[in-house]
Amino acid sequence: MTKIRLILISLIVFSVTVYAERTRLRPGQNGYTPQQDVELGREVAKEAEKQLELINIGNANAYIGALGQQLVSKAPNEFKFPFYFKIVNDRSINAFALPGGPIYIHRGAIESADNEAQLAGVIGHEIGHVILRHGTNQATKAERTQGILGIVGAVLGDGAAGQIATVGGGFLANSVLLKYSRNAETESDLMGTQILYDLGYQPKAMAEFFEKLAKEQKGSRAAEFFSNHPIPENRVTKVNAEISKLGPLPPAPRTDSPDFQEVKRMMLSLPEPVKRDPKTAPPANTGNAKPPAAPAARTIEFSGVGIRLRHPENWKSSVEGTTAAIAPDGGVINGNLAYGLLINVFKPQNARDLDQATTQLLNELKRGNPSMQTVRSRVQTRVDGRPALMAELLNDSPAGGQESDFVITVSRSSSEVLYFVLVAPSKELAPYRNAFNQIMDSVRLGR
Ligand SMILES: [Zn+2]
Repeated sequence: MTKIRLILISLIVFSVTVYAERTRLRPGQNGYTPQQDVELGREVAKEAEKQLELINIGNANAYIGALGQQLVSKAPNEFKFPFYFKIVNDRSINAFALPGGPIYIHRGAIESADNEAQLAGVIGHEIGHVILRHGTNQATKAERTQGILGIVGAVLGDGAAGQIATVGGGFLANSVLLKYSRNAETESDLMGTQILYDLGYQPKAMAEFFEKLAKEQKGSRAAEFFSNHPIPENRVTKVNAEISKLGPLPPAPRTDSPDFQEVKRMMLSLPEPVKRDPKTAPPANTGNAKPPAAPAARTIEFSGVGIRLRHPENWKSSVEGTTAAIAPDGGVINGNLAYGLLINVFKPQNARDLDQATTQLLNELKRGNPSMQTVRSRVQTRVDGRPALMAELLNDSPAGGQESDFVITVSRSSSEVLYFVLVAPSKELAPYRNAFNQIMDSVRLGR
């Protein structure tokens, strides 16, 4: 009797200790709300789809949609992101996800997967990027470390979504939303592996596929994938460690399906897509682009981010969270504000007064803009009658040459400073200086 009981106990202990808990994955720090992820992703998707050739074959679309939604059903989708899946007629081996749910799978990824589990692994990995909000997490970090000016494109409306999509002439490749860190890659690997396991797929399939791609990478069709998804260190080791925590493998894990093989054949039999050479494609906007029209004398009202002001009627405004950008057409070059105005909120750390808060803000701007120089470090001024400070800086202009930046700060509460950055190329400053003065005179704080 005693002996039997002992065996039972040891069995129980054994089964408890073999499987450690799976890695808990949570989104990192993020200045965007989940709803903003959805909105931003939608805008960028709209722009992206103008440049992508999508494949519209009923069976293939239905297959990829159904597979994607099955994978989503096992993902911890606590924000209920509205996922959708589309096939891109591009033979490079790639897939990418936009914030809030749009996922694009290149035809080349389907063609090069050996089986359904590998394709499911790629999609699971992309789902991980969305759930863990890596795109906007990256944008949040970029705002903090590269300086707010650098990613102004991310907060502008439609036009800027296009800017994000085409930065550097390479489609989406340089978008801050797709510049994942190696750590983010590992997180997505683990989430993708967990999803595969929970759906009964061979969980090794994802890491295996990425390994296969990495081996073939040199000059290959997979290079694009790795430019957006940098290869994490010890990928396979980390994935295997996760698999060992997940529990026993089903006796016959899902690896393939006739449907997958049929869709793969379908892709392979399609004609070659029309070649789009990124080098010959016109760049989104270059330093030689035509400068924007001069600021109109007539003004229109802007109301948002807790203030009102009037700006030239040929400028457009857009708001994302606490940030507003107001710029003429062509005022944003490669995602950087070259002409116009940015309004945002800065939260200083333990600043005694506006002066200290402004110092912190300027340091932060300079950290992200190493060529920024101070022309005038502090001038007292007023915004809507309240004491304010203005600094004048020089920086490299995205339009070429130098730009003048005027940074104006005013206290909004004991812990928040509202700031305005007015930007124009130094050699074209005269008409903008007038516009900037008129804008700042028109500012009314409070709703
Ligand atoms: Zn990735």
